[in-house]
Amino acid sequence: MKLVFATNNQNKLKEVQDMLPNSIELLSLKDINCFDEIDETETTLQGNARLKADYITSKYGYNCFADDTGLEVKSLNGKPGVYSARFAGEPSDSEKNMQKLLSELNGIENRSAQFRTVVALNLNNENYLFEGICKGDILHHKQGEKGFGYDPIFKPLGYDASFAEMSSATKNKISHRGIAIQKLVAFLKNFRE
Ligand code: IMP
Repeated sequence: MKLVFATNNQNKLKEVQDMLPNSIELLSLKDINCFDEIDETETTLQGNARLKADYITSKYGYNCFADDTGLEVKSLNGKPGVYSARFAGEPSDSEKNMQKLLSELNGIENRSAQFRTVVALNLNNENYLFEGICKGDILHHKQGEKGFGYDPIFKPLGYDASFAEMSSATKNKISHRGIAIQKLVAFLKNFRE
């Protein structure tokens, strides 16, 4: 079965393909000649994930899944959430996003936060959702050089290191996206056409 992952991130694609049985062939947007800019105009993670998956299924006719992720900070009532990529404005800039978050949390004691990923899947005319959550705290200063986005200022619960100090293998095992994708893969492995 061919299944589109609505991304052009080759790392994400390979990671998921490696977890799937050979009977499922993952395709990227490029593989189906989709070069469209799909604007994330919804106000929830679920809405944006569904919007992307539905766009591909309706325009190109493929079974498809898409993901959307946000960082939800408790003391900021769940901000930046669905706007995590553009928290400090556009174009998206991780450094500015982190500085804005650190300054909004200045003097605030409760630094608990969670990353949340929602995956929307369209399979044979049915829709499914999978969620992954990783709880942790926002650090006071950046730590580590690896990863991307808010990784240097996020410390997952039960660890002494930030995401940016972990190998990608360790991060993938415990991360929001890793958990959502593990749920998707378990579902696909049991799915009978
Ligand atoms: P996306 O939905 O995967 O594009 O994620 C939206 C935004 O959330 C990204 O631009 C990053 O700022 C942030 N983000 C998502 N996943 C992670 C992560 O694993 N670590 C750090 N930041 C992330």
